[in-house]
Amino acid sequence: MNHQARLTRQYHFCAAHRLHAKELSDDVNRKVFGKCNNLNGHGHNYTVLVTVRGEIDALTGEITDLERLDRLVTTTILERFDHRHLNHDPAFQDVVTTGENVARFIWDELVDAIPLGQLEKIGLIETRDNYFEYQGDRHG
Ligand SMILES: [Zn+2]
Repeated sequence: MNHQARLTRQYHFCAAHRLHAKELSDDVNRKVFGKCNNLNGHGHNYTVLVTVRGEIDALTGEITDLERLDRLVTTTILERFDHRHLNHDPAFQDVVTTGENVARFIWDELVDAIPLGQLEKIGLIETRDNYFEYQGDRHG
């Protein structure tokens, strides 16, 4: 018998970034990214939505270990990005810091480390109007 459920946990970090693709000319960058290409960057209050899917444990009634999930996201994502400039992070030296790519990075960091259950989806709220989702391949 299968009793699967999903849990979505919310996390927050504040970071600056600049949308700029090194392979494109300055002109094309300005056309593609508009004001987000501004040399000095700009900041966002990001919300990360981590969705975990798993079997409901018969004893605890839960699908994952929240305390361990919180510790994982805090140490791998929040402490790394909070109050930083994302473009200065080694992960984004050759990758544009779009919401799509930030969500993908978070997925890649977490997918093999979820304490119990499986990572289902990463959601990333960047602005009031921009929400990104990423669902990569499940490793292992
Ligand atoms: Zn932005």
